[in-house]
Amino acid sequence: MTIKEKEKVGNLIRSVKDFPEKGVIFRDITTALKDKKGLEIVIKDFTDRYKDKEIDYVVGADARGFIFGAAIAYNIGAGFVPARKPGKLPAEVESVEYSLEYGKNSIEIHKDAFKKGSKILIVDDLLATGGTAKAMVQLVEKLEAKVYELAFMIELTDLKGRELLEGYDVYSQLKY
Ligand code: AMP
Repeated sequence: MTIKEKEKVGNLIRSVKDFPEKGVIFRDITTALKDKKGLEIVIKDFTDRYKDKEIDYVVGADARGFIFGAAIAYNIGAGFVPARKPGKLPAEVESVEYSLEYGKNSIEIHKDAFKKGSKILIVDDLLATGGTAKAMVQLVEKLEAKVYELAFMIELTDLKGRELLEGYDVYSQLKY
């Protein structure tokens, strides 16, 4: 992504103070994604980065990771697998609990989502503390697949999510 493109997308992201609770600055990506140029820049950048990497599956985190995940998977010729909030997936699941910047949750993936040894790209909208991303890594590894990289539109560097993901490659388009 060029500096100009980063500026364009950065200016399209809306920052909302004290949402969903006091002290959090919520980075709202809906204002960037509804802009057709903004959406194009973001998806094209991910696509260019991963198109020749022989990724088998893109795993997207519930819910905003689905937006990017499916579009990237389609563009690079990979399958898409959702990692979902508890109780949403109908068949047998693997589950991992994790902490959020605000609150606690767990995330699930279908046990038969992919074969052992599959090459996986993990995608979410935003890397904060890294709790969600780490849980996604654990899910992928429980299924004995390999994490190629983790990709985010936004990284909140102060929260040091990258440190929690030490040993894994992390890519983010925009840093705050
Ligand atoms: P974490 O597990 O702390 O890295 O949090 C990442 C997840 O929480 C992502 O799925 C984001 O959608 C969401 N999230 C956390 N903090 C924010 C924030 N400041 N603005 C928008 N989304 C956030």
